[in-house]
Amino acid sequence: MISYDDVLAWIRGFAAAVAENKAYLTELDSAIGDADHGINMDRGFQAVTPKLDALAARDIGACLKTVGTTLVSTVGGASGPLYGMFFIQAGAASAGHESLTLAEFATAFEAGVGGVLRIGKAQPGDKTMLEALLPARDALRTAATDGVAVATALERAAAAAEAGMLATVPLVARKGRASYLGERSAGHQDPGATSSFLLLRTAAEAMAGS
Ligand code: ADP
Ligand code: MG
Repeated sequence: MISYDDVLAWIRGFAAAVAENKAYLTELDSAIGDADHGINMDRGFQAVTPKLDALAARDIGACLKTVGTTLVSTVGGASGPLYGMFFIQAGAASAGHESLTLAEFATAFEAGVGGVLRIGKAQPGDKTMLEALLPARDALRTAATDGVAVATALERAAAAAEAGMLATVPLVARKGRASYLGERSAGHQDPGATSSFLLLRTAAEAMAGS
């Protein structure tokens, strides 16, 4: 089972990882974008953190929705609406839950990724955050079907996201600012796929005992 406290620990852990990796994410974005991905993500999660303390109900869906709406309203770049939609849709799929089974978590995660796909209209191979999110979504679903422990499932999802992130290096970007570079976008790791890997790594860390 994934508890409300696990989810809170995940979001706080991701906020901390984004702050720690702010310069790194921005450096990746300076190679193929406009050098603001770390700044954008950190601005959003700095705004999220105080809102987590103010949450009244132990409702995973309400928590994730708050994260999403805060990102949408505080982050200007493409990543704000995209991550915002991820959390809003994951929140909608987990509304009213104080805990989630692995299968329910996989469903919420899948709904979040569905939101990113819908608003971003990127395909696998377009060199976006989806290169990390899609393999993680699939690894979670497989793990839920196999009935493995939550901690194992999240470790597998994080490993899948990491492989997807690393696989962005040779790709040519077909969405977002990096696509303006055409072939010159190859040879660089995608910043959004990197922050998405951190999203999975911090989930695995927060749920290591579950
Ligand atoms: P901006 O590109 O507006 O400066 P950020 O730098 O914060 O925004 O985020 C860039 C990241 O957003 C990219 O590395 C990529 O992973 C992701 N991204 C951009 N466009 C899309 C899209 N259409 N679908 C999914 N992810 C996208
Ligand atoms: Mg940028």
